[in-house]
Amino acid sequence: MIAEIIAAGSEMLTPFRQDTNSLFLTAELNDLGVQVAFKTIVGDNLDHLTAAAAIAIGRADIVLFSGGLGPTQDDLTREAAAAALHLELHPDPAILTALYKRFAARQIAMPPNNAKQADLIDGATLLENKNGSAPGQYLDTVVNGLRKIVILLPGPPKELKPLFAEQVKPRLAATLPPRFLAKRQLRMALIPESQVDARTAPIYTQYPDVETTILAHSGEIQLHFLCAKPTLAQAQARVDQLTERIEAEMDDAIFSSHGESLEDIVLLNLGLRNLTLAAAESCTGGLLSQRLTAIPGSSRYFLGGAVVYSDALKTAFANVPPETIATHGPVSEETARALAQGIRLRTGASLGIAITGIAGPTPGTGPDADKPIGLVYIALADANHTHVKQLHLQGDRERIRHWSSQHALELIRQHIL
Ligand code: ATP
Ligand code: MG
Repeated sequence: MIAEIIAAGSEMLTPFRQDTNSLFLTAELNDLGVQVAFKTIVGDNLDHLTAAAAIAIGRADIVLFSGGLGPTQDDLTREAAAAALHLELHPDPAILTALYKRFAARQIAMPPNNAKQADLIDGATLLENKNGSAPGQYLDTVVNGLRKIVILLPGPPKELKPLFAEQVKPRLAATLPPRFLAKRQLRMALIPESQVDARTAPIYTQYPDVETTILAHSGEIQLHFLCAKPTLAQAQARVDQLTERIEAEMDDAIFSSHGESLEDIVLLNLGLRNLTLAAAESCTGGLLSQRLTAIPGSSRYFLGGAVVYSDALKTAFANVPPETIATHGPVSEETARALAQGIRLRTGASLGIAITGIAGPTPGTGPDADKPIGLVYIALADANHTHVKQLHLQGDRERIRHWSSQHALELIRQHIL
């Protein structure tokens, strides 16, 4: 079964408001084993809303509307849903009475407009709204021979959420076949998305019952697998089998298979081998250290380090010989090497990592004047070797700095492996 969510409200077509109800509803529906296939945001316009409703009823098994159930002129969801279903609206006497009582309790006369909140689509069940005046509606019907469940929910999240949890979820759970969702996530760093897809598509396309999503973001590729089955064991087995085959194909490129971040994994591997790390950061200004120290417990394996932005501090804090900087420039293989070795010796860490580069947009100075923006050197030193990696990164300052920290983490991970 697939669902569509229609969020009604012109404010969500402005740059100032976002539809958040659909995020909540999607999580709840996934919980029930229902996939959300479409989300639509429509302004407060009867023709547009009716058109969107008709499309949704045509292509989804479950259609949920959020908003537009209030008493004002621009609250049109009831009318649009009824029109799209070719059903009529009739005032429900019980709701009407309840509305009058609600206003009477507050000792104010009910404005005539409010009466339209009592309009119920023929055949629909009323969903009482304890937190507001607009009740919801639940309709389980047949359109052109196909079963359709249409649900109308109030827009304010404080009304929609409890109403869904208390009255809609149990109804859906009772009508839908039992479905359980299993999920897995594989994460990789610094591999082109196209390469990941080329290597994994021949495998995941053999699992049409598992939904595979590839997300690429900030130097990381995530593969998400989702499978729905009548039992959790069945769903989990399919997802696990696919994950194993992809792991075999991508091998060491995969840094985590249970959602851990690259920082988590680097620290975990340092811990497993009883290694400590220190960092000398120039162009990243402490970004790598920030990412590592954001992980609780990192102090056991990450000792700290220095932000060595100026030439003088590269010498003062990491023992880089001034001649090295003068001859090769602060952004050079030689300086990176000396930084990694220097910070390692100064701190007593088992590993020293160094990052020096030109993040832009202003070019380097002195011996670095002719070097391109995005040129970054990462060096990793242990007691025996120092490995230096030269990078040519694209993008703006923020991107170059982030990718530099990503490359540094991946270099440490690969080294430990
Ligand atoms: P009311 O009786 O309050 O008029 P309603 O069902 O007509 O209820 P709307 O008028 O559409 O709801 O929305 C009321 C408020 O709820 C909006 O101003 C907005 O703050 C919030 N809201 C509506 N839809 C959403 C949504 N999809 N996501 C998040 N907030 C929403
Ligand atoms: Mg309203």
